[in-house]
Amino acid sequence: MAECLFCKIINREINATIVYEDDRIVAFNDITPQGPTHVLVVPRRHIPTLNDLEPGDDQLVGELIRRAAAIAKSKGIAAGGYRTVFNTNHDSGQTIFHIHLHLIGGRALHWPPG
Ligand code: AMP
Ligand code: ZN
Repeated sequence: MAECLFCKIINREINATIVYEDDRIVAFNDITPQGPTHVLVVPRRHIPTLNDLEPGDDQLVGELIRRAAAIAKSKGIAAGGYRTVFNTNHDSGQTIFHIHLHLIGGRALHWPPG
């Protein structure tokens, strides 16, 4: 996707602090962190929203979640706790239409989110 910001980060056309990558997934620090840890875990493949997922994507989605948990562990926040969120479309506040799992932690988070 030529105009997608996260595709550009994945393709190294825009800088980001990448904390993990493999052949299917890239994870990088959010530019406006909402906590001491705020990492976005994204698939290399451009998928606009969760509504666009297909049955064949089940393993990929599982990998995104397990990678977020592994990053949380590596950052020392797994035991204390953290939040993982996918926003979808307007009412959730989604602004980048390339699915991304927010991993937020390192402080006590409020619930409900509002
Ligand atoms: P969402 O609102 O769920 O679509 O989240 C998009 C996230 O992308 C926000 O938390 C932004 O702070 C983050 N973001 C926007 N631009 C960049 C960028 N260039 N590098 C890293 N994160 C970004
Ligand atoms: Zn994209």
